[in-house]
Amino acid sequence: MVVQPNGTGWIEVICGPMFSGKTEELIRRLRRAEIAKQKVQVFKPAIDRRYSESEVVSHSDQRTRAVPVDTASRVLELVQGDADVVAIDEAQFFDASIVAVCDRLATAGRRVLVAGLDTDYRSEPFDPMPQLMARAEYVTKLLAICVRCGNPANRSLRVSGGQDRVEVGATDRYEAVCRRCHRDAYTA
Ligand code: ADP
Ligand code: ZN
Repeated sequence: MVVQPNGTGWIEVICGPMFSGKTEELIRRLRRAEIAKQKVQVFKPAIDRRYSESEVVSHSDQRTRAVPVDTASRVLELVQGDADVVAIDEAQFFDASIVAVCDRLATAGRRVLVAGLDTDYRSEPFDPMPQLMARAEYVTKLLAICVRCGNPANRSLRVSGGQDRVEVGATDRYEAVCRRCHRDAYTA
């Protein structure tokens, strides 16, 4: 971002597959905002209890405090009047109303940081991320490393579990893979 918006809020989306560094990038941006003496507030879906109830934790064990919420509308209820930066991790776990919530916060002057999976384990767009990406001023798409061949990886392959779209897990259930290895896993 060369020219920083002035006098308005905006939405930044950080997306990619699992293990691509979305949470690390979110935490990096939050730390820099704190260094700039901005007030930050972080939310996460209550369904994601993998590592901590009250923190956002990256796979490299970087962490920051976060408020768990059950629904998108709770974000609006809990957001503090003086929060300059509102961050939401694992946004794909929220219902469609998270889009209007982020839009409203940004229009009201907040910087909104949203991180989440852009595709599900079948590599289909993972609502509501596409809607957030379309409305955002800035979109950063990250890639992981394919654990099968070393290529850049844009897919999250489910290696155990069922067929529900939402099944929370980490290396126990998912592998970051490239396009080719994802296809090979399904045709094997
Ligand atoms: P995300 O939020 O996208 O799931 P995280 O920010 O939690 O990602 O974790 C990123 C970190 O995960 C990397 O810096 C690296 O230490 C670790 N990691 C584990 N497996 C992989 C992989 N296959 N590709 C890239 N990074 C990986
Ligand atoms: Zn591969």
